[in-house]
Amino acid sequence: MKIDPELEQIRKMRGKDEVLAPNVLKIERSNPVAGPSGVVITEEGLVVVDTGMPQEGPDRVRRIREHMQAPFHTIIYSHGHGDHVGGIHAFIEDNEKKGYPVPRIIGHELVAKRFDKYRMLAGRRRYIGMLQFPTPEMLEASEGWQRNRREYQYVYPDTTFSSYMDFKLGGFTFQLFHAPAETDDTIWVWVPERKLAMLGDLLIGGCPNTGNPLKEQRYTLEWAEALEKIAEKQPDFIIAGPGALRGRLAVERCQKAARLLRFIQDEVVRLLNEGKWIEDILAEVKLPQDLAEDPWLQGTYGHPVFVIHDVYRRYTGWYDGNPGELFPSPSAEVAAEIIELVNPERLLERARQLQGNGSTQLALHVTDFVVKGCKDTKIFKEAMLLKAGLLEKRAGEVGNFIAGNIMRTSAALLRKDSS
Ligand SMILES: [Zn+2]
Repeated sequence: MKIDPELEQIRKMRGKDEVLAPNVLKIERSNPVAGPSGVVITEEGLVVVDTGMPQEGPDRVRRIREHMQAPFHTIIYSHGHGDHVGGIHAFIEDNEKKGYPVPRIIGHELVAKRFDKYRMLAGRRRYIGMLQFPTPEMLEASEGWQRNRREYQYVYPDTTFSSYMDFKLGGFTFQLFHAPAETDDTIWVWVPERKLAMLGDLLIGGCPNTGNPLKEQRYTLEWAEALEKIAEKQPDFIIAGPGALRGRLAVERCQKAARLLRFIQDEVVRLLNEGKWIEDILAEVKLPQDLAEDPWLQGTYGHPVFVIHDVYRRYTGWYDGNPGELFPSPSAEVAAEIIELVNPERLLERARQLQGNGSTQLALHVTDFVVKGCKDTKIFKEAMLLKAGLLEKRAGEVGNFIAGNIMRTSAALLRKDSS
């Protein structure tokens, strides 16, 4: 993969706050997976887009206060993900402490439904949180993810809209556009006086994250359309996932990410219309070389394969093309039938051979027959440990944060279970 000096430079600025233009600040994250906050200083107070993770809120407020003491007039949620809305309490408390009014909070009308859903699925979210963002404490006990049950208190927007809203404040105009993308409640903010676009997670420093394996449906086509619309506005500044982008780079990055999303969208639709199922589609969709090699579009967090899944499941049911899988037997029973025919020691030996040949993925499949089919036997522990090692190796090979964490966390749990 090519090294892009501009990307490297922007990465260097991660963690550093920047004054992008008069009255425009980028306030950085202190958590490696959160996005920055955008701040516009108006004559009537501050407008802030995104507040960081819950634990980051106080630090973001402190950083903003190094520049300006004016009240927080309006806080905008780019979408309802926890690393964008979580820090809000610190902003409200700061206004309170200084005797300022409570800030107005703007979000898309679906943000409230998202918060309700998060509360409904709190246990599930802790579980997938452990898989995607594991910490040593979570792994300490297999049920560790169930600790810290204190529920986060969501602050719901008091001002919502459906497709578009705008407002003027203290010499600036704020135009808010709905753009289903990473979430159904995603919006982006345009400030024409500075040609500034604040994008939340619409742009990250890698492949856009549609089709996250742990999350619900996302919106590949609308995401492409939004990025195309943003590029048409020829922004001078973008504040988004990778940090702050300026001028030509800001426009180019939107265009290129949009191209990747549109390409996969069109390919999956074309193959669906040819009667293909997911396995064939995964094998057939190949990115054009310039997109595949683009340092800004690598599958380090989102992944092109995830995007394929996202488009596929949006337009199809869960059937995978094999009628034998419509009402399947438990996979352990299927594996036990294979074990009746093949010595499990032979299977593990073959898995190790495949591992040695660099066919880690195939080795995993072969090992799984033993893991699933040999419970309560002597060889089970050996198979679990082999699987753990294969998962750790595969995590390194795929080089994707989300898939890698799922594999590494699962490996840690397998090791724990087998000890
Ligand atoms: Zn997000």
